[in-house]
Amino acid sequence: ECLVSNRSYRIAVMPGDGIGPEVMEPTLGLLKSVAGDALEFETYESGAGLYARTGETLSKETLDGAGAADAILLAAMGLPDVRYPDGREIAPQVELREIFHLYAGVRPVKTIPGAPIPLGDPRAQKLDFVLIRESTEGLFWERGKVARDGDREARSIMRISRDTCVQLFDFAFELGRSRKAQGLPGRVTCVDKANVLDAMVFFREVFDERAKLFPEVTADHRYVDAMALDMVRRPWDYDVLVTENMFGDILSDLGAGLMGGLGMAPSADIGDKHAVFQPCHGTAPDIMGQGKANPTAMILSAAMMLDWLGRRHDDADLVDAGGRLSAAVDAAYAPGTLAPVEFGGAAGTAVISDAVAKGL
Ligand code: ATP
Repeated sequence: ECLVSNRSYRIAVMPGDGIGPEVMEPTLGLLKSVAGDALEFETYESGAGLYARTGETLSKETLDGAGAADAILLAAMGLPDVRYPDGREIAPQVELREIFHLYAGVRPVKTIPGAPIPLGDPRAQKLDFVLIRESTEGLFWERGKVARDGDREARSIMRISRDTCVQLFDFAFELGRSRKAQGLPGRVTCVDKANVLDAMVFFREVFDERAKLFPEVTADHRYVDAMALDMVRRPWDYDVLVTENMFGDILSDLGAGLMGGLGMAPSADIGDKHAVFQPCHGTAPDIMGQGKANPTAMILSAAMMLDWLGRRHDDADLVDAGGRLSAAVDAAYAPGTLAPVEFGGAAGTAVISDAVAKGL
């Protein structure tokens, strides 16, 4: 009796704002094609639209639904003119990471052969490394709790806690171990600023402690500034990078750039009980409503969701579905003729989604 393949998974879907709904729609169609009845979608309103209407960025209904779901699939939230009273842009995606303690922000930097990329070196066409961004504390921790003395000064504190570091580094080392088993280097690099900041000295100390428990994985360090240089100069030399929230925010956009642009870069925010799958990009208000948004990052994030769900529930069919979806993206770009608007080409949301559907 095989109950596993009959399982169905509840997916909390948050299309959000701007180009969010535009990239979510074709992605749901592709998910239905690869996973059929294994997924049940429940759509929740969230983000700038909800905030403008109700004063809440995430309603109780949305949070309850997301908390009860097997996974959360999110497009993008927030718009530049929808702000909290203190002037900050609303950031419900950051709140979700804190509420569900999604400490591991997984940002794969994997180039797709045939897609336009900026670096000319042939090794840059075959990049395959993963940036893990701590996503619940670090320099983002003080958001909204502003330490401000009128017009004289303002301070933001970087919080690094042992408990979260242990979870974060173990996640990174386990990823290094599983990559090693797949024939990849199995090397984890701690990206910090331990030469200047006390909190980063502590971050590195905990990294070194946890590294001892994973002797088969190579552990080393880079200062964040040197890492930025290396990500442009020799990104092919890295395997798994692990870093603090703000450094990870910046380096993950650099990673997206190595893949061609924000429309190509998928991501996952993973905790012990919940996970959010969301493209690296935001709501791109400059191109919303024009059919120009590249859905690739959203589709690849959905493929990561299938893979995560499948591994978590020992469901080989779902892992396979995730593999087929990302292989369909590869197939769409392989001829080298699919040029997204993002790179000055003519392929918009519909053309790219259709090419992936054809790849399936
Ligand atoms: P956030 O702060 O939420 O990360 P942001 O304002 O930094 O958002 P985006 O909304 O991601 O950035 O947009 C940055 C630029 O990248 C914009 O010019 C936008 O048009 C472009 N861009 C982002 N995502 C896509 C996409 N999927 N397809 C095409 N262009 C995109």
